[in-house]
Amino acid sequence: MNEQHDSAQRLIQLEEVYGAHDYHPIHVVIEKAEGVWVWDVNGKKYLDCLAAYSAVNQGHCHPKIIAAMKKQLGKVTLTSRAFFNDQLGPYLKKLCEFTDMEMALPMNTGAEAVETGIKIARRWGYRIKKVAPNKAEIIVCENNFHGRTTTIVGFSSDPNSYGDFGPATPGFIKIPFNDAKALEQAINPNTVGFLVEPIQGEAGVIIPDDGYIKKIREICSKNNILLILDEIQTGFGRTGKKFAFQHDGIKPDILLLGKALSGGMLPISATLTSREIMMVIDPGSHGSTFGGNPLAAAVAIASLKVIEEEKLAENSAKLGDYFKKKLKEIKNERIKEVRGRGLLIAIEFKKEFGLVRPLVEKLMKNGILAKDTHGYIIRFAPPLIIDEKTIDWAVSIIKKTLKEA
Ligand code: PLP
Repeated sequence: MNEQHDSAQRLIQLEEVYGAHDYHPIHVVIEKAEGVWVWDVNGKKYLDCLAAYSAVNQGHCHPKIIAAMKKQLGKVTLTSRAFFNDQLGPYLKKLCEFTDMEMALPMNTGAEAVETGIKIARRWGYRIKKVAPNKAEIIVCENNFHGRTTTIVGFSSDPNSYGDFGPATPGFIKIPFNDAKALEQAINPNTVGFLVEPIQGEAGVIIPDDGYIKKIREICSKNNILLILDEIQTGFGRTGKKFAFQHDGIKPDILLLGKALSGGMLPISATLTSREIMMVIDPGSHGSTFGGNPLAAAVAIASLKVIEEEKLAENSAKLGDYFKKKLKEIKNERIKEVRGRGLLIAIEFKKEFGLVRPLVEKLMKNGILAKDTHGYIIRFAPPLIIDEKTIDWAVSIIKKTLKEA
């Protein structure tokens, strides 16, 4: 037992000594995973309630996605976009049909999808809307999270994200989230787009008022600016629909996707829009060595099929309601609010009881992996294949942990 404990400690130490300290992980060393469960190097089993920040919606190591990956691994993995490959076309067609968009630009990480959306919106602004050179503005929201590149952190409102990484890229205007009036007021003739998360995930699962998404759609259309929705975290069934924008019956002009597009196998992202808008991108103006590689394409096709075949959005809606209801039934003086949509759920705790990190560590000891955000919020976002029995067990552990605390 001690030897095993030592081995976990040694592995943690290796990461801490040789790796940059860009994260502050919970002290659990994961060795294997299947479905909603993960095991540490000592063989202890945990329920994964983070799902790699919603990248493993399909569950860990989904056999159908692994099979597709293995099949493609034996054929060809990377061609670069200097040539065509036999997987990319069918993948892009499938993704466009899945999202009801017309064209897609394949990238790797979520942040790259966001950068791609920004580039497309700016080019559209200059070439179609006829904004004066270098004057394009994009409106973003306070407390946004869109990734970690220098441009993206330049419009973050979190000092941990942007501090001492300046100068910030110009051309971004920040307004409060969930404030349609502020959007209307911030628009000027140079505005080309409004970049927003339909639910702010990293900010602590902040859900806008009913009608907000519809209203911003109207405002963008009326003012000829592009609605750029970042569904990197909320997409692929996480909120109980395939995409969060479907709760409001609208469509974005530009859709940003990543994370669960690969079921957690590889970094795969995409930026989708209409044919007219995508045509502002011409050869040489954008690209990525790995974007659209045949291995990623084969994996993404399988990941999308799993979401459809296993009705993950429907399961997320049903089990999300159930999980939320059960969490709301917990009577504990520390809890301020339980909120969420689908299986993107958060418990916000009262500040007077202190930071929730120790609670997250206790949850880990009791067999649940979750992550605190902004000090007082714990997100519960398990893989979408979770069932009622597992939720009952999770709620009993959360209850017990709160009592112990
Ligand atoms: N956008 C949103 C809404 C996210 O939640 C994230 C990651 O958490 C990103 C963008 C960045 O994605 P990536 O970490 O793959 O660059």
